[in-house]
Amino acid sequence: MSEASTPGPDPIRIPEQVIRIVRRLEEAGYETWCVGGAIRDALLGGAGTDVDLATAAPPTVVRSLFRRTIAVGIEHGTVGVLDEQGVLHEVTTFRHDVVTDGRHAVVAFGASLEEDLARRDFTINAIAYHPVHDRWADPFDGRADLARRVVRAVGDPAQRFREDRLRILRALRFASRLDFAIDPATWAAAVAQSSDIAHLSAERVRDEWVKGLRTARDPAALLRLWHTSGVAASWVPELEAARLEQPAPVLEDRDPPLLTAFYCTPSASVWRRFKGSTAEIRRAAAIDAGPPTPPAADGESVRRWMHAVGEAVTDLTRLAQWRGTTAGGWDDEVAATVLRGDATTRGQLAITGNDLIRAGIVTPGPALGVLLDRLLEAVLTDPARNHAPQLLDRARDLVREPAP
Ligand code: ATP
Ligand code: MG
Repeated sequence: MSEASTPGPDPIRIPEQVIRIVRRLEEAGYETWCVGGAIRDALLGGAGTDVDLATAAPPTVVRSLFRRTIAVGIEHGTVGVLDEQGVLHEVTTFRHDVVTDGRHAVVAFGASLEEDLARRDFTINAIAYHPVHDRWADPFDGRADLARRVVRAVGDPAQRFREDRLRILRALRFASRLDFAIDPATWAAAVAQSSDIAHLSAERVRDEWVKGLRTARDPAALLRLWHTSGVAASWVPELEAARLEQPAPVLEDRDPPLLTAFYCTPSASVWRRFKGSTAEIRRAAAIDAGPPTPPAADGESVRRWMHAVGEAVTDLTRLAQWRGTTAGGWDDEVAATVLRGDATTRGQLAITGNDLIRAGIVTPGPALGVLLDRLLEAVLTDPARNHAPQLLDRARDLVREPAP
């Protein structure tokens, strides 16, 4: 392979611990290169991520050459090597795909560097760098595509997407993260096969969705790609095209579930389709249930709305701020209500159900819940009523008179 490699423009900085691993493997007679995302990002001048190593050494040899190793993905040929500081470096044996079905690949070892690079998804991800000899292996002109700012499949895009449909979503993710264009042939193949994305597992699609929303320069740009390529149709039909044309929210924090709710209505169905966690589905369902804003910005309207939306208060307030639907400054009133500690839930009442039972006002059972709700009702009207003696008096009055 070395005869095909070329010197690069500038040597890139590879951590000393990584170089030591490369030397050790090469001294044992196994060609070893730095590959993948870290090389791409280093060439773009970005922050250093973990450097992945690709080696001719079989996994068993990698394990035998280093004192501390972890079998992180042994079926894919990946061994984790721990350096003196205990930092893990992934070392993967050169491999090529033997069987692909659009969802999984069966890989075989005993491949060359050239073959290993050929099975990678995009040219910008198929660049290898040798940190000892300062040599480059870039058989698919990934560095030229980095300079042109283009995401281009390695080889025939239609075939590469048929092998693994997830690559379609990865193309969209890298394009929006790096602010690159997608090469026309690669884009055409992605569009042509977009409906096949339906066959992918929910977990892999969800991971792409979440990673994409977290890393895109502009989430709306990523979602425009999901929309125009056609992949949104099978996995996120809730995506609202009109919203993609509006100004993007200010993203001081990346919160994929909240971004999903911003762009998709409803969003609980999205997380169910993605087989999301119970917490994710529940959070989205609470947002969907709304109402999205209080009817007015006065204290009582805001407290009653906070009571109605429960755990979705923070999310709905944030979404309304992004959408510019905080007329009258009700979001400030929400913050003030929280700051003052005004009760908007049963749990914030100055007395508990036990207090009512101990005072002999009510016995355990459904009547207790009804009574607590009526006390909360009174406190929502006037927070000044939230004191234990006052509430006990009110409770005594309430049990005497019939419920309205
Ligand atoms: P990130 O910064 O998102 O981790 P990355 O390029 O490191 O970007 P990974 O998903 O960590 O991406 O994969 C590491 C490398 O493995 C990629 O750079 C690419 O060469 C290869 N790769 C990953 N997934 C695929 C795939 N589905 N098909 C082909 N090659 C892949
Ligand atoms: Mg990576």
